[in-house]
Amino acid sequence: MQNIKDKVVVITGASSGLGEATARLLASEGAKVVLGARRAEKLDVIVSEIVKAGGVATSIKTDVKSRNDVKRLVDTAVEKYGRVDVLLNNAGLMPLAPFDRLQIDEWDETIDINIKGVLHGIAAALPHMQAQKSGHIINVSSVYGHIVAKGAGVYCGTKWAVRAISEGLRQEVKPYNLRTTIISPGAVNTELLEHISQKDIQETVKKIVGEFGLSPDAFARMVAFAISQPEEVDVSEILFRPTAQP
Ligand code: NDP
Repeated sequence: MQNIKDKVVVITGASSGLGEATARLLASEGAKVVLGARRAEKLDVIVSEIVKAGGVATSIKTDVKSRNDVKRLVDTAVEKYGRVDVLLNNAGLMPLAPFDRLQIDEWDETIDINIKGVLHGIAAALPHMQAQKSGHIINVSSVYGHIVAKGAGVYCGTKWAVRAISEGLRQEVKPYNLRTTIISPGAVNTELLEHISQKDIQETVKKIVGEFGLSPDAFARMVAFAISQPEEVDVSEILFRPTAQP
């Protein structure tokens, strides 16, 4: 695939699911990938497998709730590889529950990771990309960033916010020649559902997603598509879902 080789790509939430699949695909296409997540031991395994396969990868334990962690992640990419071409703001969680269960700590956590984590990524990458006068920020929203489902109000709120933030960013970064992409996936089989604390809801959602959830590779191909376009082409948003998903 064109335009991917040698690009320096920072990925948050790279220890499983969509982030991991993207790291592996982009590295196999010659990108230098810099992986962040909290589970350092999982990142170590992914990095060593990528390197063993001939790729270039490094990882740093990162909690996207910490703006310093995210800055260190992006700064390390620049120190190690000279630049940051792509930031994939992917880390997220989806703890579904109706409002009357008052999962207030989960509301906080979801907002801190899904929204503030994305902002921390933008804050960390923007100065480098402005100086380079090139770069690409890709933010992960969801089909739930386009609709609101009962029992998913807080999660949907965060994913709508990601789309609003991304569109605002898109309009502002023209002077720096930067591209922005929102990727809004439908159901993909990952660890995302494992973190639903409400066991009755988890069971129901697992049953539904289990019927038609896509492989994370589907997402990785969307990222590769956006990155591989010629520099003058800004893929502003990709919305995709399993063919069987309503
Ligand atoms: P996973 O649970 O498999 O992956 C989530 C990733 O985010 C993990 O690598 C996890 O790593 C990381 N993460 C979570 N919290 C933090 C944190 N505080 N700091 C750093 N990293 C963190 O789920 P997915 O791959 O499915 O999710 C990736 C993104 O895709 C999310 O934003 C999700 O909302 C979105 N999405 C997923 C869909 C799906 O059907 N799977 C559909 C639509 C959107 P660690 O625990 O090691 O920190």
